[in-house]
Amino acid sequence: HLQMDESTSEPVLIAGAGPVGLALAVGLGHHGIRSIVFEAKQVPSEHSKALLITTRTLEVFRAWGVLDRFLEAADLTSELSVHLAGRAAPEVTFDFESLARLATIRGVMVLPQNRTEALLLDAAREVGAVVNFGQELIGFSQDSSGVTVTVESHGQRKEVRGAYLIGCDGAHSTVRARLGWPLAGKTYPSRIMLADVRLPDERGDASWPLLAPQRRGVLAAIRFAPRTWRIISTVQPGETEPTVLNHKSIEEKVHRLFGHGPYEDIWSSVFRIHCRNSPHFRLGRVVLAGDAAHLNSPAGGQGMNAGIHDAHNLAWKLARALRGGDEDALLTSYEVERREVVVSTVERFTDVLTRLAFLPWPQVRFFLLQVVKRALGRPEIRARILPRFSMLNASYHH
Ligand SMILES: Cc1cc2nc3c(=O)[nH]c(=O)nc-3n(C[C@H](O)[C@H](O)[C@H](O)COP(=O)(O)OP(=O)(O)OC[C@H]3O[C@@H](n4cnc5c(N)ncnc54)[C@H](O)[C@@H]3O)c2cc1C
Repeated sequence: HLQMDESTSEPVLIAGAGPVGLALAVGLGHHGIRSIVFEAKQVPSEHSKALLITTRTLEVFRAWGVLDRFLEAADLTSELSVHLAGRAAPEVTFDFESLARLATIRGVMVLPQNRTEALLLDAAREVGAVVNFGQELIGFSQDSSGVTVTVESHGQRKEVRGAYLIGCDGAHSTVRARLGWPLAGKTYPSRIMLADVRLPDERGDASWPLLAPQRRGVLAAIRFAPRTWRIISTVQPGETEPTVLNHKSIEEKVHRLFGHGPYEDIWSSVFRIHCRNSPHFRLGRVVLAGDAAHLNSPAGGQGMNAGIHDAHNLAWKLARALRGGDEDALLTSYEVERREVVVSTVERFTDVLTRLAFLPWPQVRFFLLQVVKRALGRPEIRARILPRFSMLNASYHH
């Protein structure tokens, strides 16, 4: 990466040390730009949340020189075989070698989000970013030469001046709220249950992703650490949160997926899922990225990755603007390019997957799944879907 640029005396200010804020700090550092990150939480998060790191994100990490630490932390999965519970043979196999023309890295990675964040935090600090925990951004004002933010910590307020403010402060973004923009779109009627469980015996070594038939919606599982799995299940109409989350209910799902035997609850919760975006990603020197700008269903595992791609698109443009480039053209292109990718690829892909999984009529769903399965049996169809899943299909025209 470049030497830290002392000529740009004012740093880029980042609200939020989630994966997107930290990725942006790494990207800026890679381009020699100082940043200060303000994170409201006192300590880094310990939740597993987003598990999938797509091929395009790994390419971004490679470009920033941080890929090796991810390859040391988790295996690269170069062949993904979808299994149905109780059947030894996979239903369909995706071979990432078919991405040879599109990427140097041929695979995806499964890593709990807290570990992704820990690796990005180390990388950000190594390239000179200052990451402050326990400091909440509560307001800002901007003028033609910079942004002044007000930050609160332990009841004390301070003002910090920077060249730009990037709101990477998640779905309930203070930055977006202050700009007066809603997250417009839809919330799906179905809720999903996520549960992380540990299986102490060889059932925990099963291949993933693993699916089990369910009357309505999905029941699926992904292994994200040795013998440690994320279970994803649609909440059935009329089911209440306490019934879905009690031990017996989760045990019944574990048995349907893995067969009978013991298991250990790690964590579980019920969520509503959304397909929403902000009408704008930028006003002057204030920019939004990640969940602060767009939210999509976790089907397909694209959300966190899309935010990191925002950071990748934005980092070099901020660096160029700070070195005298055409700020307006650069930041306008960020908004145009990323909104287009989010709306026309990420939202569309995750929406189709979500609607297919949530179809309320079992016969129609069964019929459609047979059609999908037959289509996926054809290598040319798999070769078209894999770049989309890997997020390699987006290109920028501006
Ligand atoms: C349980 C769960 C499971 C998920 N599973 C998946 C999945 O399987 N696949 C997937 O793609 N996505 C998943 N997601 C979504 C994924 O976690 C998000 O897309 C991702 O975290 C977005 O990153 P971000 O950095 O934009 O926002 P966040 O991770 O929300 O980070 C925002 C940060 O900003 C901080 N902050 C907020 N306001 C302020 C403020 N005013 N000042 C300073 N700091 C502030 C917050 O404390 C937070 O640390 C899941 C989410 C949850 C909750």
